[in-house]
Amino acid sequence: MKKILKFLISAVAFIVIALLVASDLFKTDYKTHEKSAVAMGTVVSACIYGGDEKTAQDIIASIEETEKLISRNIADSCVSLLNKNGQTDVNGDVAYLFRLCKDVCSRSDGCFDITTGELSSLWDIGGEKQRIPQKNEIEKALEKVDGTSVSVSNNTVKIKKGQTVDLGAAGKGFAADRAFEILEKSGVKGAVVSVGGSILLYGRHNPSQQKWSVAVRDPFGSSSDYAGVLELSGGYISTSGDYERYFEKNGKRYHHILSPFDGYPVDNGLKSVTIVADEGAVSDILSTACFVMDLKDGMKLADGLGVQAVFIDKNKNVYLTDGLKNCFHLCSDEFNLAEYEKD
Ligand code: ADP
Ligand code: MG
Repeated sequence: MKKILKFLISAVAFIVIALLVASDLFKTDYKTHEKSAVAMGTVVSACIYGGDEKTAQDIIASIEETEKLISRNIADSCVSLLNKNGQTDVNGDVAYLFRLCKDVCSRSDGCFDITTGELSSLWDIGGEKQRIPQKNEIEKALEKVDGTSVSVSNNTVKIKKGQTVDLGAAGKGFAADRAFEILEKSGVKGAVVSVGGSILLYGRHNPSQQKWSVAVRDPFGSSSDYAGVLELSGGYISTSGDYERYFEKNGKRYHHILSPFDGYPVDNGLKSVTIVADEGAVSDILSTACFVMDLKDGMKLADGLGVQAVFIDKNKNVYLTDGLKNCFHLCSDEFNLAEYEKD
């Protein structure tokens, strides 16, 4: 366990550097404070420019609090109580998160569904018990999947008894939203908060900085390989891909984003979806939703909601929403910028 932690923490500095490749990160005139930890099943970090160390510490503590609040692996979290009792009271922020999940479940025609918890447990991708389940086990777990039976009334959430909710596809972006609130109160000049695949770019890391440069990972390569770079003035960026958590058997990859329809890892030709939005929970939820939906329907959803997206498919085609066409460039000639057909 210690070894894994050490590896994860040393990986964090690398991830942040990877994200800011091509930026003038090291030329900052602001004092920099960085803290990292392992929380929400991943590496989290806060890099603060022009502020104090306490802000970085407060952000890490807030991510740990968020984990305690919504992780189904923590016995008295509100999600665990919901799964145990079929209903629970939550705070206003968590009620809002559930409403957002319900809304995207309906807009994605059920592709995004937080009641896939039992299905995820069955596969346990990345866990100690990961395996290809039997067909009848998958069918049984699928009977419990129905996002329409989640109800939120005032601050009470209800599900059908026996269902298992998992906020794994939304919680990291939600934690980034909480970090934003701390940054707003702290008066820091800039920050990068990274919660696994969800990133918040806040303010400026340098007085003369115009844009942040964010690398979009090459989903075929290692974590130091990039397909392209986004130039952004700030916001939240989340990526969902088939390379984040997976195992391989007989030459086939089994990853952690599951189809709520057939119960198997999604296999629709996409390798990754990156969403840029002005809310963390929205970017996190939509990156998973669009990945499950496929290129055409996912692009339609992103366009309809006014968020920006980068889709990368198995043929190394990169598709951009209109709003990113002037702020993305490829940095590997293995990839092609391609157009998708709008209806
Ligand atoms: P990551 O956790 O690597 O940031 P995602 O945000 O894409 O990646 O979330 C993947 C997680 O979401 C899975 O590990 C699982 O807990 C959950 N999940 C899997 N399939 C779905 C789905 N179709 N709808 C909602 N949540 C899902
Ligand atoms: Mg997600």
